[in-house]
Amino acid sequence: MKVFHCGRCDQLVFFENSACTSCGRTLAYLPDRNEMGTLELVEGDQWRLLAPQTRALTYRLCLNYSRENVCNWSVASDDPNPYCLSCRLNRVIPNLSRPGTREAWARLETAKRRLIYSLLCLALPVSGKVDEPQHGLAFDFLADLDPGTSEVTFIPTGHLNGVITINIAEADDAVREARRLQMHEPYRTLLGHFRHEAGHYFWERLIRGTVRVYVFRQLFGDERQDYGQRLHRHHQQGAPADWERSFISAYASAHPWEDWAESWAHYLHITDTLETALLCGLSLQPRRSNEPEWKPEIADVGQRDLSFDQILERWFPLTYVLNNLTRGMGLQDAYPFVLPPPVLNKLRFVHEVIRGWESSVPHRRNE
Ligand SMILES: [Zn+2]
Ligand SMILES: [Zn+2]
Ligand SMILES: [Zn+2]
Repeated sequence: MKVFHCGRCDQLVFFENSACTSCGRTLAYLPDRNEMGTLELVEGDQWRLLAPQTRALTYRLCLNYSRENVCNWSVASDDPNPYCLSCRLNRVIPNLSRPGTREAWARLETAKRRLIYSLLCLALPVSGKVDEPQHGLAFDFLADLDPGTSEVTFIPTGHLNGVITINIAEADDAVREARRLQMHEPYRTLLGHFRHEAGHYFWERLIRGTVRVYVFRQLFGDERQDYGQRLHRHHQQGAPADWERSFISAYASAHPWEDWAESWAHYLHITDTLETALLCGLSLQPRRSNEPEWKPEIADVGQRDLSFDQILERWFPLTYVLNNLTRGMGLQDAYPFVLPPPVLNKLRFVHEVIRGWESSVPHRRNE
């Protein structure tokens, strides 16, 4: 994540802020410029960009910002869509008349915007089903209880045909923590869910039907094994005893698709956190020369050009600091994962797919 400042008073601001904490000006993230904009109302719903001051640009606030207060992104004035790039991907939102639902929805949108930010920065295709009915991406945020019928239905979080469904109960910290313990997961967050499910979406988009699937099978296994059976077996028997030698998480061992989605999510955890550290100017200079050291170079700031090996070189020392800092706060390790060689090879493949997705890859012959 980039480091953002108020364009008016230069105060450091977070990606989630909608007003500057120092001068009070209205802020909105400008996805078309990958900047936080400081805005001034012109008239009606038109806002002028006070800074960065390069062009006289006008914006509208996303409708979910101005009306619902669950978004802080903007829409360029000449864009007819009332919703920002992130909110326009929504297909179903929860019933807001139920207590606590608006707060849960806001938490979902906050995590989703971080996902969309990363996808845009990685130059991945982010289009909705209105523009691309077949390949576009959409989000359904659903609750277990259908308010119309009062019937309890179980809504699994997952991905199908470009639609990512998130059960809004996952936005409830107590529910999510209970599930994390029940599933023996060291890490379960809303952002993690979004990144994982996006991994499934991009498998369909970037791997299925291309020759990349052959490399995929060498690294992750054959995805044509029965998905339902494999998942059932995982939930009944758990992961194999030695899963840590080949998988990033126990759940990754359930099926090659889950392994890919977990690896994809980790790639986003790693690159996003690394970008934050780099752009905050973090460096590590231990007293002992044989300890993890980190001296970012100017070139690192454009980390989109870093090779996979360079990313790893910077990531390992950073995890030491991250975990030590969270331990110091009495929290769990921020990154409680070990990356053995087979996992690194999977992450390298994710990296190569993301970097090279635009290059034409021949479609495989029918199997
Ligand atoms: Zn300010
Ligand atoms: Zn929005
Ligand atoms: Zn999954």
